[in-house]
Amino acid sequence: MGCDLRSPLLFDYMDINSNITSIKGVGAKSAELFNKLGVETIYDLIHYYPRAYCTYPQPESSISNICGDEYCAIEGICHKSLITKKTARMDITLGTVNLGDDQVDLVWFRQPYIKSKVSPGKRYIFYGMVRMEKGRYKMEQPAVYLPEEYRSLTTGLYPVYSLTKGLTNSKIGKMVDSSFGMIGTISDHLCDDIRKKAGLYHLREALYHIHFPDNEVDRKKARERLAFDEFFDLSMILNLEIGRSEKEPNTFKLPENKYSQKVASSLPFELTEGQKSTLSDIESDITGDVITQRLVQGDVGSGKTVIAFLAMTRFAENGYQSVIMAPTEVLAWQHYETFLRMIKEQDLPFKAVLLTGSMKAAEKRTARELIASGEANFVIGTHALFQDSVTYHDLGLVITDEQHRFGVKQRKALTGKGGDVFSIVMSATPIPRTLAMILYAGMNISVIPSLPAERLPVKNAVVGKDKREASYRFIAKEIAAGHQAMIICPMIEASMESDKTDRENVEEYAKTIRPYFDPSVSIGILHGRLEPNKKDKVLSDFAAGKIHIIISTTVIEVGVNVPNATVMMIENANCFGLSQLHQLRGRVGRGAFQSYCILVCTSDDKDSMARLNILASSNDGFFIANEDLKLRGAGDMLGVRQSGDMSFKIADIYADSELLVAARDAALDLLAKDPELTSDEGSLIASHLHEVRKHQFTNL
Ligand code: ADP
Ligand code: MG
Repeated sequence: MGCDLRSPLLFDYMDINSNITSIKGVGAKSAELFNKLGVETIYDLIHYYPRAYCTYPQPESSISNICGDEYCAIEGICHKSLITKKTARMDITLGTVNLGDDQVDLVWFRQPYIKSKVSPGKRYIFYGMVRMEKGRYKMEQPAVYLPEEYRSLTTGLYPVYSLTKGLTNSKIGKMVDSSFGMIGTISDHLCDDIRKKAGLYHLREALYHIHFPDNEVDRKKARERLAFDEFFDLSMILNLEIGRSEKEPNTFKLPENKYSQKVASSLPFELTEGQKSTLSDIESDITGDVITQRLVQGDVGSGKTVIAFLAMTRFAENGYQSVIMAPTEVLAWQHYETFLRMIKEQDLPFKAVLLTGSMKAAEKRTARELIASGEANFVIGTHALFQDSVTYHDLGLVITDEQHRFGVKQRKALTGKGGDVFSIVMSATPIPRTLAMILYAGMNISVIPSLPAERLPVKNAVVGKDKREASYRFIAKEIAAGHQAMIICPMIEASMESDKTDRENVEEYAKTIRPYFDPSVSIGILHGRLEPNKKDKVLSDFAAGKIHIIISTTVIEVGVNVPNATVMMIENANCFGLSQLHQLRGRVGRGAFQSYCILVCTSDDKDSMARLNILASSNDGFFIANEDLKLRGAGDMLGVRQSGDMSFKIADIYADSELLVAARDAALDLLAKDPELTSDEGSLIASHLHEVRKHQFTNL
């Protein structure tokens, strides 16, 4: 099987962005089904990669080698002609094939034409599933092949696609195949040089053979090329977006460390080793020769805020301003309050100023004035911080917290504000170092590997639906003891989709559980469709203890710190990825109290239980990410994927880590030679990236 590359002179080729209805055999009805799979154009179809591959088994000529539930091929002879019976509902075609001494009954529904395909006395291979029924072997709807025809199939690999009802695997395969014929040749945006260096397939070969590989080696090569592209594209886009400016010399003078020393030594707790080494990394950055950017990766609850405070104090004590930007108003408020408390407790001569979008105009004006005059040493806020009307005064450091909520552009806008300033990005997403190197191109990386030792580990329970009421009673007790609880549901409102009907939704859930609690218990709801103001109000009421139970979708996942919350109950926990569950669980266990996480598993599937038990057995985010990976083979386990920062269809950030490094190096090499992508090779890549942005990395 090769590519169908007809000469462009003889054939009018289709634009790859044409609608799939331009493929022969795709009418309005199938187009609708394809749309359900996210396939609207020929481009989409060609990039609709198989989810797996199957091989055709060697044909058996004895029934004894065949075990129940698997597709198999049997070789034998039908001594009699097939017969077709007409029933009121459909045509049924019947026959019997002899394999040595055994007989297998054959049944086809609605396929009367099969009769003419099978001649008595001739040898055939039937491919299907054999079952035992009323003491006889039976194969339903088998595919029929001549022996030589079948044997040519057994050497290949066949694509298995994710389907939707009404669309068969073979239809998708056929349409993909015709697409290749229709669009003619596919040119490669990667030049020979890059391809040769990394030992990659031509794009045309890779795209065709990812669907129709000749063999396993071929499939691997095709996959490798496409995975390389995903890494390469992301690397290029991020590097182009952020700009790989030359390292600027560090002109900040930071000799004074009186206050930061004092704060560090009089904290109510001992810093963890990870916190200490992160601080010393930051110290060598800011006293070094050049301006740097640093990523601080630390699990939820690892204590990143105090790092921010100490780093900002280092600048304040030397007369420089610094900024911390949070992704939500509530988080900004929380940081502000923490900062005010620390300043007071430590008796520091510094001023913290808050600036968020929801503040009144007059308050904002005052804040801006304090920032511009330099009276504000610590500036805390949301994206309102990078509006044009904000002018900074001797800005030295910009910190962005829980970065994965920010797009690259926003990050750039804020960093661009103060000219050349130090920047620190704080993230709780446990991504492997190799990927961090790409996503945070040009940044140094520090990791805080463990949580403070004296923190009481969250107690976990994986339960079935039958334990719901007991859970509510437990929550009621915790509330009576002065604590708060969060319940997560996967949906906002009742779903019409049949496969989602057993998923709990926030709106109904709040009503359902009401009777289980005393009227004095206040229940709030939170989800992404609430207006931003309402969302923030609910969260701040919860933080202030005015709401006892918050029922929420996963929007609560990022960074909310309510140490008084001691129960996290997650409905339909089996619907979530482990890493995401871990992030959710990180919302409790942040104070001095014992906290609990109740995972309600609503699937009877043994694997779901096993997966959730991994979570119950460990509170370590990196460990969980790895286990999750082993079970699911990477992919969408990462919070980063949900945030829309990137999506890999085929690449696996763990298994393909070598490829990832090669792709990043290739991208950096190219950009070093051709930073604006103006050369012949570069401009091909530039227009390719333009397409990719449309199709894949839409949110960057
Ligand atoms: P995150 O890394 O998720 O942002 P926070 O900075 O909000 O975590 O810290 C969570 C809690 O842990 C805070 O109440 C903080 O005061 C506390 N904390 C931070 N560092 C330590 C430490 N070394 N020992 C004990 N508690 C700590
Ligand atoms: Mg935090």
